[in-house]
Amino acid sequence: MSNQSLIEEGKQYVMNTYGRLPVVMTSGKGCRVWDADGKEYLDFVAGVAVNGLGHCHPEVTAAIAAQAAKLIHCSNLYWIEPQIKLAHMLCDHSCFDKVFFCNSGAEANEGAIKLARKYAKTFGRGEGSYEVITLLKSFHGRTLATLTATGQDKVKKGFAPLPEGFRYVPINDLPALEAAISDKTCAVMLEPIQGEGGVNLCDFEYLKSVRALCDRLGILLIYDEVQVGLGRTGKLFCYQHAGVEPDIMTIAKALGGGVPIGALLAKDKIAAAFQPGDHATTFGGNPLVTAAGCAAFDIIANKGIVENSAKMGEYLRGKLRALGEKYSCVKDVRGLGLLIGFELDREAGPLASLCMEKGLLLNCATHHTIRLAPPLILKQEEADEAVAIIDEALGELLAKEE
Ligand code: PLP
Repeated sequence: MSNQSLIEEGKQYVMNTYGRLPVVMTSGKGCRVWDADGKEYLDFVAGVAVNGLGHCHPEVTAAIAAQAAKLIHCSNLYWIEPQIKLAHMLCDHSCFDKVFFCNSGAEANEGAIKLARKYAKTFGRGEGSYEVITLLKSFHGRTLATLTATGQDKVKKGFAPLPEGFRYVPINDLPALEAAISDKTCAVMLEPIQGEGGVNLCDFEYLKSVRALCDRLGILLIYDEVQVGLGRTGKLFCYQHAGVEPDIMTIAKALGGGVPIGALLAKDKIAAAFQPGDHATTFGGNPLVTAAGCAAFDIIANKGIVENSAKMGEYLRGKLRALGEKYSCVKDVRGLGLLIGFELDREAGPLASLCMEKGLLLNCATHHTIRLAPPLILKQEEADEAVAIIDEALGELLAKEE
């Protein structure tokens, strides 16, 4: 079936919640995808940072097929072998001791908020401490609590009343954070690099000061690494850049090599606040997704993926900065590893659309900023190919303006 006929059917039966582009992706391999009309694209969106290992990585595909033939689901009433193995691997490679598995980034953040509140009541600042301070321009998910945690009004419109207990401060503004903290505060939750907000980086010194402030006041520090974790920024976890260890960290996106899985990681002392019955999910960490997660995480952690992300990120930013020398409309190139913000002095949508026509998938994180988040297996030739398309498209768009 063609793009057009499938989209017509989709419009009739699928809820209209996404501003979708008019193509149906039907297959993928490595850094490339193909639509229903057979058109090929170089994929610099990567399922919004999910396909860290590219599309259909053979080891992940094999692990899914093997587990699907053995045991797909059994419920968390029982212990689950690949769930135990994945939790073990995650703890071995991070500063955390315990893991709770769920199905998405938003759910991981819901769990983090619940854990922070329960910890405050059980061992921490007390019954009245339930507020979580987050950053403006952040993004934490679309459930009621996580959209409330999100520091952007656009996701909240039409959904009042929103849950109580969230406050917002600007990024990299320590005095504002200090002023927002009160007896009610139980945690500070932040993305060390804001992905959806336009690839905005927290300064390392700011992160260190936030850690010190939280320690001084007995407030938990939660890192949302849903987008930036698992090699995306050139370290296995983004917290490793500044050397600041959060108390709780959430991950999702790349964890399962493409299958839906999220996780909440915490140090033992914090995790102890959750007791049986406090938190649960039917599907979370089921055998199928955690078998995929074991295969994906082993590759990310042990097979040069993180190093490639750092190296190719550096290379790509250099190439994009060279475009900035050529075109004055390029305002900024920023990021770490393979999470890159390419900011223009104008709407970035037309550039993304033209690049798509030319076979490169890009996504606008904000009106002016394109986010490049290619698979972490990116090769230099693929980076060059993408930059050549962006160069050609920018040239054509500017020529039209003259
Ligand atoms: N947190 C961050 C930093 C994200 O980027 C996202 C999604 O883009 C989420 C949370 C929500 O994740 P999900 O869409 O899997 O619920």
